[in-house]
Amino acid sequence: MRALTFEPGSEGTLDVREVPDPRRGQGELLVEGLTVGICGTDRELIGAGYGWPPPGEERMVIGHESLGRVLEAPDGSAFSPGELVAGVVRRPDPVPCGACARGEFDMCRNGGYTERGIKELDGFASERWTVEAGYAVKVERSLESVGALVEPASVVAKAWEQIERIGARSWFEPRTLLVTGAGPIGLLAALLGRQRGLEVHVLDRSGPGLKSSLVEGIGATYHSGSSLAEFAEAKPDLIIECTGAGPLVIDAMTTTAAAGIVCLCGLASGGRSHRVDAGVINRDIVLENDVVFGTVNGNLRHYRDAAAALAKADLAWLERLITRRVPLTRALEAFEPAGHDNVKTVIDLTA
Ligand code: BGC
Repeated sequence: MRALTFEPGSEGTLDVREVPDPRRGQGELLVEGLTVGICGTDRELIGAGYGWPPPGEERMVIGHESLGRVLEAPDGSAFSPGELVAGVVRRPDPVPCGACARGEFDMCRNGGYTERGIKELDGFASERWTVEAGYAVKVERSLESVGALVEPASVVAKAWEQIERIGARSWFEPRTLLVTGAGPIGLLAALLGRQRGLEVHVLDRSGPGLKSSLVEGIGATYHSGSSLAEFAEAKPDLIIECTGAGPLVIDAMTTTAAAGIVCLCGLASGGRSHRVDAGVINRDIVLENDVVFGTVNGNLRHYRDAAAALAKADLAWLERLITRRVPLTRALEAFEPAGHDNVKTVIDLTA
C-alpha cells in the first residue's frame, strides 16, 4: 500500500512510497485511511525541526489528524465495519506517570509519551492503518467530509475543559472571549466559544476574506490587525492565544478583565527577543487574580467532546474550513505555502 513517509531530523525526505500492509493485532481495528489533515507541526516535522522515528527505524509515516473507515474490528468491540473513526494521537508513557496511569496522557509528566506521526509511532497518512480499539473514536457518518477536524478540535475541546476547570476556582461566568489567530485552531476555539453562548471576537492579521467571513458565519466579530491595543479598554474575560506570536502572547497577559484566563495554544518558534516590563505583567496578573496557562494535545474524553461539538456545528461552515484537498499521489503539494485564505489542507488518501 502507499504511505506518506519522511525521515525525522532530515529535511526534504518526505515522499509517497510503497510500504507493507499493516497487520491487525489483537484488540485492534483495521482502518481504510480516508483523509489526514496537515498542520504546522507537520510542516515542522518535514523541516527537521521536530519528530522522532520509531525505535530502530529511520523513516516514519506522517499524519496525526486522521479520519478512516473501519474495515475489520475485533469481536465484541464497540466498532463495526463501515463506521468512521479518528485515531487518538498520543499514547501513555510506559512508566506510567500518575497522569498517564489515569488516562490523562495529554498531561504526561515525564515526557515519555509517544505520538502517532510525531514521536516514535507511525502516523495515519497511509491507505490502511491499524489502531487499538481503545484509542479510536467514532465519528458520525454525516461528518465524512470534515472528520479530519476531530483531532484539532480535540486540542480545542481540551483547552475549553481546562478553562472551565480553572474558572471553577471561584464564581465564573465569562461573557467575552478574544481568540488571536484565525487558523483552524483559532476558528474552532471561536466555534466552541459560540457554542457556549459567549460574545466572541477573533483577531487575525489578514484583511477581509474567507477568514473574516468564517468568523462572521458563526456570529463572532472579526478584527483585522496584529496588536491587542484595541482591546485595552473593554478587556475580554478570556483570551485563547493561537498565533504563538511573541508580542501577542505577552500583551494577552495584561489584556484580560479581572480574574481573566489566558489560554496559550499557539507555539512560538523562538529566537526572537522582545523587551517587556516584567513588573507590569506581574502586577496585572497578581492584582487581578489572572491565570495564564498552556495546553497541548487531548485525551479520549476530549476527542469525544470534539466529535460531539463538530456534530452540532453547521456542516457547511465546517466544510469551508477545508480549503485544499490534495490527492495522496500529489501529497507534497499539501505542504507548499498557501495564502491567507487557506485554512486547513487535507490529503485524500483514497486518490
Ligand atoms: C498535535 C498534538 C501534539 C502536539 C505536539 C500537535 O500538532 O495536535 O496532538 O501533542 O502537536 O507533538
